Amino acid sequence: SDRSIDMVLTDINMPEMDGLTLLNKIAEMDLILKAVVMSAYGDMDNIRTAMNRGAFDFLIKPIDLDDLEITIDKTLAFIGQTRTRQQELETARERLQYQAFYDSLTGLPNQSLFLDYIQQCLSQNRPFAILSLDVERYRLIKSSLGRTIGEQLLVEMVDRLRTCIPLNTTLSRTGSDEFAILLDNLSQTKDAHFIAESIHQSLSKPFVIEGEVISSTTRIGIAYSDMNYEQPADYLQAADTAMESAKKQGMGSTAFFDRQMHSVAIKRLQVEADLARAISTEELILHYQPIVSLADAKIVGFEALVRWQHPTRGLISPGEFISVAEQTGLIVSLGKWVLEEGIKHLSLWRSQFPYLSDLTVSINVSGLQLFTPDFIEILERLLQKYEVTGNILKLEITESILIDNAEAAKKVFEQLKQGNIQLCLDDFGTGYSSLAYLHNLPIDMLKIDRSFINSMLASQRNLRLVNAILNLTESLGLQAVAEGVETREQMQKLQELDCQFAQGHFFAKALPADAIIPLLEREVIIDS
Ligand code: C2E
Ligand code: CA
Ligand code: CA
Repeated sequence: SDRSIDMVLTDINMPEMDGLTLLNKIAEMDLILKAVVMSAYGDMDNIRTAMNRGAFDFLIKPIDLDDLEITIDKTLAFIGQTRTRQQELETARERLQYQAFYDSLTGLPNQSLFLDYIQQCLSQNRPFAILSLDVERYRLIKSSLGRTIGEQLLVEMVDRLRTCIPLNTTLSRTGSDEFAILLDNLSQTKDAHFIAESIHQSLSKPFVIEGEVISSTTRIGIAYSDMNYEQPADYLQAADTAMESAKKQGMGSTAFFDRQMHSVAIKRLQVEADLARAISTEELILHYQPIVSLADAKIVGFEALVRWQHPTRGLISPGEFISVAEQTGLIVSLGKWVLEEGIKHLSLWRSQFPYLSDLTVSINVSGLQLFTPDFIEILERLLQKYEVTGNILKLEITESILIDNAEAAKKVFEQLKQGNIQLCLDDFGTGYSSLAYLHNLPIDMLKIDRSFINSMLASQRNLRLVNAILNLTESLGLQAVAEGVETREQMQKLQELDCQFAQGHFFAKALPADAIIPLLEREVIIDS
């Protein structure tokens, strides 16, 4: 078994162990080591056996010294080559393994290795605490100052983080702008919040990178091992949940995962499991909220809003399950169902009320759904199936999905425009630099977010903002819908400001499809 043996030279007939048995042993011990066998002339059977057992070569006695030298050189060269190749393979394997478990930018363990470390604590019953932190405004920094500066920022942040945590503590990059720390001995665990505090302090000093002064704080969520979850990922998720709640407390804050978050998390898991079933068993239902023209109070269309008729929990609003659906990918099948249901009803109303030929249905489309490769194809097929033309279908897309995907979105939008489909930017005003998109994207309509409408009469600033958005849409030749109109005063103000369309509880809440028929009947009467 000694690796320092370079090769074996053996006779066949030997005391204690004969050469053929030795060959078997060598093959068991070391796949690379080779033997050269010496045998008397005419001993053909033995030679054949030796070759079968992996002998590299054989020499016939009496042995010629030149022959011996050549054979030894040849054998050593072969073994040497095999060893080198093996080492190269080993290095390549290590490199691959490294890439699978370490982040190439910072050299830190990635999320899967981090989860491994949590698993180790769990199996050894070692108490631990997890700190999850995210870099505030990282995406914004990256998109405004460039990728290189963004990455440099992360690297310098890691340096600072290291000074705040005990030596040999696992620090991991768990996402593009997320880090996690595993404190896995009791005294450290007790100090988790002190460590969080020192991280906040250390990061509060601005970074100077290539002459740019950047301040970027973090939010920290802390979770402890006493939650008795089974999966490592559940603990990391718990720390993330706490981090999300720290977001609400503002910059540079820390939050602990607590019982209440725990029950929210449990509920989420239930929703997740239930939702998959709900989509296939038709527990979903669409409600429709009228959109009215402010000039003449006529209904111009409806926004389809999904609800979940849960067998035990009753009607659940999308606020509770859309984000779960988005995180799990279920939104794609959910969205497909909504699309078909909405188009089906639009087609039905059209045939019942041919007089209202401009009636539209607006359907909310989530980013994930928009970017599935067969989205356009499915949509076209549905329009054909229900004999609906693209111009009366509106797709509502939130401004926020444009931040990371402006180019990809542009492509899809352009394809949709070829089918004459109308595009609305939803929740307008709540995103980042909204104006930049408007020139570039083929958009037809902006939906002014509810938060501006319900505060515009109390806040001069928001009133000016609504006014500015309306001027903007006019000058760009777009249409505008005010969302969430709840009072007559709001409606009147919007009329004064020349807003074209509105929706909200003041006009009607979202209603089941069969409640829409009487509304449309009334429209026809008013009109004729
Ligand atoms: P959204 O697209 O901004 O939809 C408008 C929301 O405001 C709806 O809530 C609607 O019921 C509510 N609303 C309408 N008028 C008023 C009002 O006067 N006052 C108040 N306080 N609220 C009003 P809903 O139905 O709970 O939907 C919430 C969000 O869920 C939607 O926001 C949308 O982002 C999402 N969503 C709903 N249906 C779908 C869907 O089919 N697919 C996708 N991807 N998302 C959906
Ligand atoms: Ca919407
Ligand atoms: Ca909206």
